[in-house]
Amino acid sequence: MIVVERHEVLVVGAGNAGVSLAAKLLKDGARDVAVVDRRQVHRYRPLLNYVGSGEATTADLERAQHEVLPSAATWVRDDVASVDPGARTVTLGGGRTLGYGTLVLATGLPEDWDAVPGLRAAYDAGWAGSTFVDTSAVRVWPALRDLARGTVVFTIPPEPAPCGATALKPLLMACEHWQRAGVLANLDVRLVTPFDSVLDVPQADERLEPILASYGVQVHHASRVATVDAANRSLTLSTPDGEETLDDVAFAHVVPPYRAPRWVEDAGLGTGPAGLVDVDPETLRHHRHPDVWALGDVANHGTRSSGGALRDQVKVLAHNLAAVHNAGGPAADAELHRYDGYTVMPITTSRQRLLLVEVDREGRSSPSAPFVDLTRPRRSTWLFDRYGLLQVYYRRILRGRV
Ligand SMILES: Cc1cc2nc3c(=O)[nH]c(=O)nc-3n(C[C@H](O)[C@H](O)[C@H](O)COP(=O)(O)OP(=O)(O)OC[C@H]3O[C@@H](n4cnc5c(N)ncnc54)[C@H](O)[C@@H]3O)c2cc1C
Repeated sequence: MIVVERHEVLVVGAGNAGVSLAAKLLKDGARDVAVVDRRQVHRYRPLLNYVGSGEATTADLERAQHEVLPSAATWVRDDVASVDPGARTVTLGGGRTLGYGTLVLATGLPEDWDAVPGLRAAYDAGWAGSTFVDTSAVRVWPALRDLARGTVVFTIPPEPAPCGATALKPLLMACEHWQRAGVLANLDVRLVTPFDSVLDVPQADERLEPILASYGVQVHHASRVATVDAANRSLTLSTPDGEETLDDVAFAHVVPPYRAPRWVEDAGLGTGPAGLVDVDPETLRHHRHPDVWALGDVANHGTRSSGGALRDQVKVLAHNLAAVHNAGGPAADAELHRYDGYTVMPITTSRQRLLLVEVDREGRSSPSAPFVDLTRPRRSTWLFDRYGLLQVYYRRILRGRV
């Protein structure tokens, strides 16, 4: 194997995590940072839920990747296909091998289509879809908007998932739309959640349960979609009481399950059933390979993933890489900063109101504005989520100004 190129820091993935970290490292003085990603288009993914609710377009959330990546970073326009942590190399889909001093995995989570037989075909047929799949989000609102009768199914994805709680956004925004259109009573709206309560987060559940009840949504607790049959417009759920089939479904907003890229596990870097990168959840450093780190959705950070969680993860990881670099070797544990698992769950409860739940790894409330109860649905929070954060994301977060 010939290593043609070597970088001090090699970041895999130019999504929210990879770009923010690369920008922060360069801002803090790093000189050789390369980012590997084939994608030409960068997406602010939280806005996909507003696309699927008729409140935004894909043009609102997309930017050219070359405008988003820091100009001082080397952009490697390819995918990583394998890693050899012993040799400190990655091999790209195109066949090249790159060496690294420090490797940061930030690939996000690919969909695990095989886990739900029939789901991919149902997406292709347009009978199923979701805001969580970039190419499907534009088809969600046209499918939901004009429904006037029948059964509609929504799901919350099992963990790990990219901010799975926000799968409630298209459901609750559609419900308010149907209520205003006077058709909600004719619709049989179902929510399938893997949790015993709505989200298994008491601060969110106590707000959400009465709202779901007010819209007449029937909730299937501790359940998952097991198989999907687009030809017969039916889904089979796996529930605590056994299998249950929902027939004659008008539209199925089924978020696919997720898992880490297979090559993470093949390289001996993964852990758990979803093969997430086996990092120390607090320092974000790999348990067995000290040159490997991870952040974002692909990292086993022990909390629910979200873009909001990355603000803290980027700060901690940038500090820790500098600490190790400055120590000229493995830094003493005491010098490393620790991520407390802070994460966010922003949920629209209607088309112009949003509640925000912020918790740490133990599920304790961790409010960013301690004197305002953001778990109460507010129009101001919705305005910030729909319009403000997009600006903050492209102007500050992706520029390493967290
Ligand atoms: C519909 C939806 C709504 C959301 N809403 C919110 C919200 O309201 N609030 C919130 O805080 N968070 C929200 N999130 C979550 C947030 O978007 C993610 O947590 C965040 O994007 C994670 O960043 P990431 O960089 O880890 O992954 P991503 O942003 O998914 O980026 C991963 C990147 O890695 C690249 N990649 C993948 N495999 C490879 C490979 N083999 N080689 C090289 N590159 C690779 C991909 O092309 C991609 O560019 C939402 C997510 C979705 C899907």
